[in-house]
Amino acid sequence: MEPPRKRNRPESFKIEFPGDVNFRRFVSDGMQKVRQHLLTSWNRPVSNSDILKHLLSLHNDPKDDDTENRYDFNTYQQANRQDVDQTMFVTMDTSLQKCLDISAYHARLCPAELKVQKITRRGHVGIAKLCCNQPQGNHAYIWSSSPYLPNKELLANARILHAYSTSGMIRAQYLRFCQAAGIGLLRDIRDGERQKPSFQHYYGAVTDAYTESTEQAILEEA
Ligand SMILES: [Zn+2]
Repeated sequence: MEPPRKRNRPESFKIEFPGDVNFRRFVSDGMQKVRQHLLTSWNRPVSNSDILKHLLSLHNDPKDDDTENRYDFNTYQQANRQDVDQTMFVTMDTSLQKCLDISAYHARLCPAELKVQKITRRGHVGIAKLCCNQPQGNHAYIWSSSPYLPNKELLANARILHAYSTSGMIRAQYLRFCQAAGIGLLRDIRDGERQKPSFQHYYGAVTDAYTESTEQAILEEA
């Protein structure tokens, strides 16, 4: 009779925790939540070992040991010579907060750092692609340096259009100013003012407000 064949099972070990049924439920529910999270993120089956490894690496990853040293929290940040032509754009309070929210959300699900991969400009606004280099699958987010108005225009661009329109600056001055500073250009003005829809919309609104306030003044005088 042949001796029973030895099954080639991978090595394993057990960890035992003291605890009642509530603690057991706490552990299994918690692991299930992490599993769901990793499934979405990694897009492959997730074992208990994967979960434990992920949780421990989040806590003990040597990359994070010197966090305090790696980050310079000083407000004073000197520009390097090669960075003087970096992209410049206008941003706003709520957008900056959104950027922090994205970063905090990403940090909860991934130990890798988010980096700015690309910035494209829409007028004076920067649209940034933020990515990490997590081997199990990159995370990518698109961030806009300005919030949108209900008409889908960017608020920062609308504010600058307003400033330009009321400043008395002529088109050639605006173009030279923006080109010299490298801060983007409002397409409406670049392509010929008062022809693009947002300009027409803007002047329509200004005309309405002007007429309304003038009529009101005349009525009050009468
Ligand atoms: Zn990531």
